[in-house]
Amino acid sequence: MTVATHNTLGEIAAYLDDLLRTSEIPDYRGALNGVQVEHVGPVARCAVAVDASSRTIQGAIAQGANLLIVHHGLFWSGVQPLRGHVYERVRRLIAHDIAVYASHLPLDLHPDVGNNVLLARELGLAPASGFGRFESIDVGVKGDCDLATAVLAQRCEQLSRRESGHLVTVGVTPDRRTTRWAICTGAGASSDTLREAKAAAVDTLIVGEGPHHTAIEAEELGIAVLYVGHYATETFGVRALGAEIERAFGIPWSFIAAPTGL
Ligand SMILES: [Zn+2]
Repeated sequence: MTVATHNTLGEIAAYLDDLLRTSEIPDYRGALNGVQVEHVGPVARCAVAVDASSRTIQGAIAQGANLLIVHHGLFWSGVQPLRGHVYERVRRLIAHDIAVYASHLPLDLHPDVGNNVLLARELGLAPASGFGRFESIDVGVKGDCDLATAVLAQRCEQLSRRESGHLVTVGVTPDRRTTRWAICTGAGASSDTLREAKAAAVDTLIVGEGPHHTAIEAEELGIAVLYVGHYATETFGVRALGAEIERAFGIPWSFIAAPTGL
């Protein structure tokens, strides 16, 4: 039986921090993992979304949710005054007693509920080891397979379309085969990840997005890159957290789709 006192923000946040190893995982400065905004509570309904934005906050309000769990939190842009659209986000959260919990890299790399592992599973790929080094952690995953790269691209295309993305490919030719792949969701393509891919004999890199120069470098390195869409590669982790909270606390949840951006 679910007891109401178990559904406080503190209990749920402690559960998530433990699951995601929030205090141990390094991250970018603006990520601010964990509770970003408190509420009076208790938690009655949970909304999950990729971004903390006016649209997803509005979606949470419409769903009657008072906890919003996101992958990209409210503070990416660093210190800034609460004015204009930034103020509007906070005003709506407080007016509707909505708490915000954010998890960036801890959610990307989690072995069960992480974006990278779940994306691999969606594509029929079995991760064997880590990829995408950041400080002391591997954000992504890699593994071996024997697939026509065009087949892998087709799976990515279907997934991307389903998750409001748009697949862009580099180096996918009809006769090419993928024998070692790596995944790094979100902004996963960079000179660093391409270098790491080359060193690990990865022939196909699957990412959310990357700057233009990564396509040029990939071609020169002989690595195929499948750019699935930043948003499209990061819808899985927050949905897994919603399901996990329902399982552990009996709290209903919904995914707020808001595919703004790339
Ligand atoms: Zn991201």
